[in-house]
Amino acid sequence: MIPTETTPRFEEFVYERPDLDQLEVDFSTQLAAFNEATSFPDQEATLQAIYRLRSHFETMYNIGQIRHTMDTRDAFYEAENNFFDENLPRFEQLKSNFYRALLAAKFREDLEEKYGQQLFDIAELSLRTFSPEIMPDLQKENQLISAYNKLKAKAQIEFQGETYNLSSILVKEMDADRDLRQAASEARWAWMAENSTELDRLFDELVAVRTKMARTLGFDSFVAMGYARMLRTDYSASDVARFRDQVAQHIVPIANRLYDRQRQRLAIEELRYYDEKYSFPEGNPTPRGNAEWIIEQAAGMYAELSPETDTFFQYMREHQLMDLVARDGKSTGGYCTFIPQYRAPFIFSNFNGTSGDIDVLTHEAGHAFQVYSSRDIAISEYNWPTYEACEIHSMSMEFFTWPWMKNFFLEDVERYRFAHLNAAINFLPYGVAVDEFQHYVYENSEASPAERNAAWSRIEEKYLPHRRYVGNTYLEGGGFWQRQTHIYAMPFYYIDYTLAQICAFQFWRRDQEDHQDAWADYVELCKAGGSRSFLNLVELANLESPFAPGCVEHVSSFVAKWLEEQAF
Ligand code: ZN
Repeated sequence: MIPTETTPRFEEFVYERPDLDQLEVDFSTQLAAFNEATSFPDQEATLQAIYRLRSHFETMYNIGQIRHTMDTRDAFYEAENNFFDENLPRFEQLKSNFYRALLAAKFREDLEEKYGQQLFDIAELSLRTFSPEIMPDLQKENQLISAYNKLKAKAQIEFQGETYNLSSILVKEMDADRDLRQAASEARWAWMAENSTELDRLFDELVAVRTKMARTLGFDSFVAMGYARMLRTDYSASDVARFRDQVAQHIVPIANRLYDRQRQRLAIEELRYYDEKYSFPEGNPTPRGNAEWIIEQAAGMYAELSPETDTFFQYMREHQLMDLVARDGKSTGGYCTFIPQYRAPFIFSNFNGTSGDIDVLTHEAGHAFQVYSSRDIAISEYNWPTYEACEIHSMSMEFFTWPWMKNFFLEDVERYRFAHLNAAINFLPYGVAVDEFQHYVYENSEASPAERNAAWSRIEEKYLPHRRYVGNTYLEGGGFWQRQTHIYAMPFYYIDYTLAQICAFQFWRRDQEDHQDAWADYVELCKAGGSRSFLNLVELANLESPFAPGCVEHVSSFVAKWLEEQAF
């Protein structure tokens, strides 16, 4: 383990391609020792040795991935990315061997006592979703996802004499000039339409390979396998279906009223798809400085918020663990990841001058703060929780930092706060629509691209009845979902954001009522990492479960009330 004091800057982090053959030998040796251990301390010592082997591989994988996404044109890291696409399943095989041994461990009771039930639940679910038979399918799945990411990262959109990518065009889609944002939106969607055959082909193959794996493993469809892969231990597809109904019943009407207010503010007859991201006639609030200035402001903010966030953010800066500004060749989107041997979180984003840049420094920094808080847990499964719980950290950090938003938006701060909360409400119906679509897709794995698009259109009508695609045939034909990376790359990872949002709204309110109390629970939650299941973490943080009867209605009503009281 490399001690903090000597942690180098990210560019000095050492990458070497893992030697899988050697790893397999070392892993087997340790696993045999684990199985033959004659005392609990012995068994625990080999357990830790196994985690150190895993940690080295995961470190190299994450450094490789980060550098690949920082410049997708870099041939060296592209080759490394291909190497991992091909070899990750071999690593999965080793993990799977470990899980089998863990469940049968001689000193299982002692291990469970010390490390908790959650590790054993994860081991059981992971074993259900992996077998050597599906290795070639997993490799194919990885390659298809990489092909989707690469296609989007390489997008070049010619617009008014300039070339944009899918991230940088966004700022034009939010322009004050309605004709301009219409034209920019049309340019984006024209690129999607031109590539729709390839996007359909990739998705067809993804659905087919996932369905094949599910059947090989004895699942009825990929739905149950998808849930197991997401390590969901305490809720099922029917709980999620009831949750979506709650959103349809209680949140869609609130969102409809908000869209109508937006239409009135903009003084337009009809709010069209290219108007949705444009909130105010005077323009969306934007941060009042460049990337460097934004990071300075963020440093001040985290210093004032708490000693914990101060230490954390200084660490991120000192070790250059953030790559924030959009560049050609960089992957789209944003993420936070963790490099175990350096005990370092990493934040990746594409700053483009919109308020979204600040969301990165609150949302992704929320993820990073959590993993920083739990980085010393030696069980790597516990560094992060499952994704719905992860998104509580990020989305709640967006709210805990509200008092400092004036540092970024100056006199526009009230508009920023309104737009932020408004967007959080509006997101929920879209989020559950993406989830319902995925259930349709994997329950109807034989559906054609046209049938899938028709399903998307039906689902949009249910959850996004305000939406108007007037004249855009690609969108009218149900193509919108193709922009949503998660649908390709992380099946069934989307409802997570909506479950977490319901939790974050609770922190939003509690923070206004009693900051000390809310913050203390938040820090506790972050430190717990992934040592418990989602609903147990929710309980630990003194939050109400989003599945509890009445929770969606009750939580959304206080958010709606606040929004109604604002002058916009
Ligand atoms: Zn997130």
